[in-house]
Amino acid sequence: MGQLQVRKPAAPTPIIPPLRFVIMFLTTACPSGDGASPQVAPAISVQPQSQSVTAPATATFNVTATGTAPLSYQWNKNGSAISGTPSATYTTPATTSADNGAQYTATVTNIAGSVTSNPATLIVRAESTIVALDYSRELFGTAPTLRPTVQSVDVSTHTVVIQGEDSRAPSIPFTFSLGDGSVTNGFFPQSHLYTDASRNYVVRVTAHYSLNETDSADVVVRFVPPQITATSFPAAVTVTIPAAVPALGSRQAGYTPPSNLQPFDDSFFGPSLPRSTAEYVLSQAANVEADILENDIEQVNGDWRQVVLRDPAASGAYSIWYSTPIAVGAAASFFQGTPGYSSLFHEMGHNLSLNAPASFRYGGRIDGNANAIFSEAVAQMFQHSVAYELVNNASKYGLPSDLTLEMANSARVSAQVVRGFYDTYIGQGKPFATWNDPSTTVDETEGTFMTVARQFMIHAEQAKAYIGPLTRTMRLLRTFNPTLAAKYAPGTNSAAADVFRSTLMVAALSYGFKQDLRAEFRALNFGIDDATFTTLYNSIP
Ligand SMILES: [Zn+2]
Repeated sequence: MGQLQVRKPAAPTPIIPPLRFVIMFLTTACPSGDGASPQVAPAISVQPQSQSVTAPATATFNVTATGTAPLSYQWNKNGSAISGTPSATYTTPATTSADNGAQYTATVTNIAGSVTSNPATLIVRAESTIVALDYSRELFGTAPTLRPTVQSVDVSTHTVVIQGEDSRAPSIPFTFSLGDGSVTNGFFPQSHLYTDASRNYVVRVTAHYSLNETDSADVVVRFVPPQITATSFPAAVTVTIPAAVPALGSRQAGYTPPSNLQPFDDSFFGPSLPRSTAEYVLSQAANVEADILENDIEQVNGDWRQVVLRDPAASGAYSIWYSTPIAVGAAASFFQGTPGYSSLFHEMGHNLSLNAPASFRYGGRIDGNANAIFSEAVAQMFQHSVAYELVNNASKYGLPSDLTLEMANSARVSAQVVRGFYDTYIGQGKPFATWNDPSTTVDETEGTFMTVARQFMIHAEQAKAYIGPLTRTMRLLRTFNPTLAAKYAPGTNSAAADVFRSTLMVAALSYGFKQDLRAEFRALNFGIDDATFTTLYNSIP
């Protein structure tokens, strides 16, 4: 019998080569062996959405895709790949105006192919450029206790240290919004590393005194100079900070400029404030001050240019109104860190107002123990009015928001000083004085002249106008003449002179605000002679 032979089946019909090729391809491409599943190329199921942000906030784009895993992602900006963007979500760095209109796409890739999303457009709204300044809080409100400062800016490592204090010492951590989109909570000092050091930042520090009581303050972190868009000003008002001390003559017998003045050499300037920027800002301030005086200023060699010089012995700044050229002496610190804008506007206010009116300048005619009620009150009104004008009309003067924020901070601090002297004046029983007694070490007139400045600012706040009322106030004060100078009697401490000086200032503010302020000032213990008031008030149309 024959052995059952199990015959091998016949060899299968050979697969036609093209099919075999396909199978081999799939096998090679699917090392997992799951050759049964179809391979699906990626498709975008949710497109990235266009969006708008306000610089420097970041923007986040998302894409959702289907297709055979794994999917890989690549984000593109204006068609160019952005490195390091391997996920379905992409968050931009802090935005700037340069990013406005940028188009972002995502390319999704898998084994079966790739697809690129529709573009999403990023709209970057302008960084908030409006720094508004009023003094309502300083004059009416509770004084802030939070005082942040920029302790250091390391331009090589981009590391910044924010220092500060708050006399209320809250136990809740402060919030630091660092201006580049990052926010952190903690206490002073706070250190932060900025990715982009090609621009400046405004850091907002918020104190939390309780769940519903907070306060905030802003400081500027400056890596680059302020970006001035220069607008013209008359050459006559130019302020320079010369690199060499010019010869200073004197226009007032018995007055000699200090002999120890030094220049602010280049070491006092740097990226935070170039010399030319400081000169520009001071010139624009002088421009405003000359306008307030309606250019009725005694000329010095044909104009009233000013120079700022360094006094190594000084801790503050002072007016040298009588020199040729007119000068300001200032301590070495004035252009370092946050510039002392408000004090410089104050001294320039002395300089120009003491050289006004052109026909009979105040300077040298009221100097003496009764000088302050005119000169210091006016300088205070000038410094706060000029800062108000420059900050609130920044674009007109070509000033960027970081610089006007520094200026506003400087002016707010000096406004608190005005308020402080006023509070002391009231608290001490309104001790009116226009006479600085040379036999005492204190200045008895501080409360009085600061109260004049405070009442000016109160009415200016109510009117929401500083320059117009101050221009009118100075217009009345510029009626100054030999007859008025004799009544002012700066070297005499008499009741009549005291009342005249008081009446002059009250008449000037009344004229300035077109409002009879006699009752208001009488309540503040100012003596006023009605006949003199009426004569002064009606002395100009
Ligand atoms: Zn002064």
